[in-house]
Amino acid sequence: MVGPMAQARIRLHLDQPLRPEQPIALPEAAAHYLFAVMRLSTGAEILVFNGRDGEWLAEIAEAGKRRGTLLCRDRLRAPAPPPDLWLLFAPLKKARTDFVVEKAVELGAARIVPVQTEFTNAERIRQDRLQAHAVEAAEQCGATHVPEVADLARLDRLLAEWDTGRQLIWADEAQAGQAAGLAGVAPGPAAILIGPEGGFSQAERARLAAAPFVRRVALGPRILRAETAALAALVLWQAGFGDWR
Ligand code: SAM
Repeated sequence: MVGPMAQARIRLHLDQPLRPEQPIALPEAAAHYLFAVMRLSTGAEILVFNGRDGEWLAEIAEAGKRRGTLLCRDRLRAPAPPPDLWLLFAPLKKARTDFVVEKAVELGAARIVPVQTEFTNAERIRQDRLQAHAVEAAEQCGATHVPEVADLARLDRLLAEWDTGRQLIWADEAQAGQAAGLAGVAPGPAAILIGPEGGFSQAERARLAAAPFVRRVALGPRILRAETAALAALVLWQAGFGDWR
């Protein structure tokens, strides 16, 4: 729950239908944030979105300590889902994983999939915590869509079940120094794959190299940290095929 700038209206994600004059009962955490932390009272206006119905202006109709009601007024923006780009990445240490999730939302990933590779350190993730992080990032950056953060999935299983209509853009550290960019990638559904700090194993490299839906790419002449690589690849794709054009 973040108010982006001093003058800007508070923007809140609420998982409830949004329609004209729709009353919205606030969850306790949202009521606490609006009334105890931000000290708003009845009549104040905030922005709300639910990931489906666009962005709405809502007025505080009732304000209590732990509860409250909003009244939906006007829809200010239609839903604007991001282009069909997923980010697959091997989870890093907590703060750096949080960073990747936050930046992936800002950069317009439609879905975020933590992947377990042979050299991934994490064996489990807190999916609920990462999803909450994605919600907060969407509140802050003005997105009307909140990407789903999937649970940790094994790379070999993902590859075995892959929908071949989606190009898998493999950021391959061994390509560093080759012509950078998305040569060989076409418009259409895509997913970016970023490996762990230890890179991909020989077996994973062989499997990726053999898959017909994989496009192997280089991200410049230097070896990037995984979070830098994720951001660089998202930017390249958004500028080439996505909503930065
Ligand atoms: N330990 C590996 C090595 O020394 O070769 C480096 C792994 S890198 C820190 C983490 C991930 O970022 C890689 O698996 C790859 O997906 C991506 N990456 C980093 N630099 C890259 C580059 N120049 N080109 C393509 N991918 C890169």
